[in-house]
Amino acid sequence: MFGGMENASCTTQTIGALTPPNARPDEADDGLNAHELAHQWFGDLITTTKWDHIWVNEGWATFMPHFWTRLKLGEDAFHISRFGTYQGAYFSALSNPMVRSDYNVPMEMFDGNAYPGGATRMFMLMHMVGEETFWKACQKYLQKHGYKNLDTNDFFQTWGQNTNRNLEGFKKQWFYTKGAPKVSVKKVENGFEVIQETEGFTIPLEYVKISTSGVTSKGKMDLEPKKAQIIATESAETILLDPGAWLMAAVAFPSYTDQEWQLAWNAAENAAGKMRILQSIGDKPKLVQTLFKTEKSDHVRNQMISYLQDTDMLIEISKSPNRTEAFTATQNLYRPKNEKVGARMKEIFETTKDESLKETAYSNLLAAKDDEATANLGWNTSTYSLRTKTAALNWYASKDASKARSMALEAVYKFAPGPVRMTAISVLGRVKDAEGSREVFNLLVKLAKGRPYAPMSAAIEALATYGDKAAIPVIESRKNHSLHFGRNTVESALARLNRP
Ligand SMILES: [Zn+2]
Repeated sequence: MFGGMENASCTTQTIGALTPPNARPDEADDGLNAHELAHQWFGDLITTTKWDHIWVNEGWATFMPHFWTRLKLGEDAFHISRFGTYQGAYFSALSNPMVRSDYNVPMEMFDGNAYPGGATRMFMLMHMVGEETFWKACQKYLQKHGYKNLDTNDFFQTWGQNTNRNLEGFKKQWFYTKGAPKVSVKKVENGFEVIQETEGFTIPLEYVKISTSGVTSKGKMDLEPKKAQIIATESAETILLDPGAWLMAAVAFPSYTDQEWQLAWNAAENAAGKMRILQSIGDKPKLVQTLFKTEKSDHVRNQMISYLQDTDMLIEISKSPNRTEAFTATQNLYRPKNEKVGARMKEIFETTKDESLKETAYSNLLAAKDDEATANLGWNTSTYSLRTKTAALNWYASKDASKARSMALEAVYKFAPGPVRMTAISVLGRVKDAEGSREVFNLLVKLAKGRPYAPMSAAIEALATYGDKAAIPVIESRKNHSLHFGRNTVESALARLNRP
């Protein structure tokens, strides 16, 4: 059910950890392998005392794989993946503080705080104390607490000693305070006014001043809640806050001109800084296009592709020898449903040896063509993840209920491979029975009573979609399922069926 489980000295992983033949290098499951491997130290050698502090395990196992990425793919890839982790952390921080004890079941703690939240805070700690000091402190930490349990307080006591710093404030605001800082900037008479709109955080804010010749100076300020501060600039200067994107915060930039955005782009300290700018200029596809043309980093360019809207340009990129770029461009051609896109998707579908590229091209082809011939083509094609078959089945479910019903029934009766069978079960809930028949309903009930988890859970969801209250007693009989996920499925299905 999870990607992996870090049993000491013998990690187990699900079938999802395997990739198809001819997979792109970026498709590999290194991240998961590195996560479970990191757990041998962070989680197994040192373990949390209570679920309240589960970040001690999961945050670290999420933090460490980024350094594998840096070793394998370089600085840009490292900063881009780090920024992705920051994003997850920011949104999770809005719902709960990192450390809490008000959960109903331990599983609730395995959330965006534990994983990206813990990792992000370790990046902030690393940035604050410096990387060299950080790893030395880490070594001492493992030596002192190895084969023992520890909580958040023990963690900061040790790390405070190991880095020669008082980390009480850091601990309090990043681990026991709900929320995340939000910074906004506006142009004023002699510079820029910066204000932190949130309570509870004092943040070390780095910034650079920029002119057309590049960065003119760097600065740093402690930004307290609700207290505006001015960064004075010369008339030709503009600013970029947190240019390396090391701070977990939302930064609302002023309304820059395209030229000012370009200056900011060039002043970003690393690829994470560029990712934050990219978010703010996402609604300016022309500007992104201009920056794309001169951007030298493959990794950064790959991230920009999702923001491009020019169909011809995307089709061109879909032919790039850089397989990751070509794949991202193909993925983003799902929007324009026209002849040109259809023809390119067909070409990729027919010629590529990359299984996931083939599946992606097919799903865009089906969307562009929207006809039975294309649906049949997918149904009769076998790919690694069987996504052309499931896409075809879903297409029929929305176009021709009777055909979809007979395809889905056959898939279940003949025990089609997992992904097809699970999609078939869900499709049966959508298309329901033909007039006067109970075949679909009875089959779903039988599966819902069965032992294998995946079809059981898919059938319970399908019965909720089917919407016949006669399924309630059957679903209720699974209320005490041994798996937390099973009980959740039962609960939400019952809520849907009991709705008046
Ligand atoms: Zn883990």
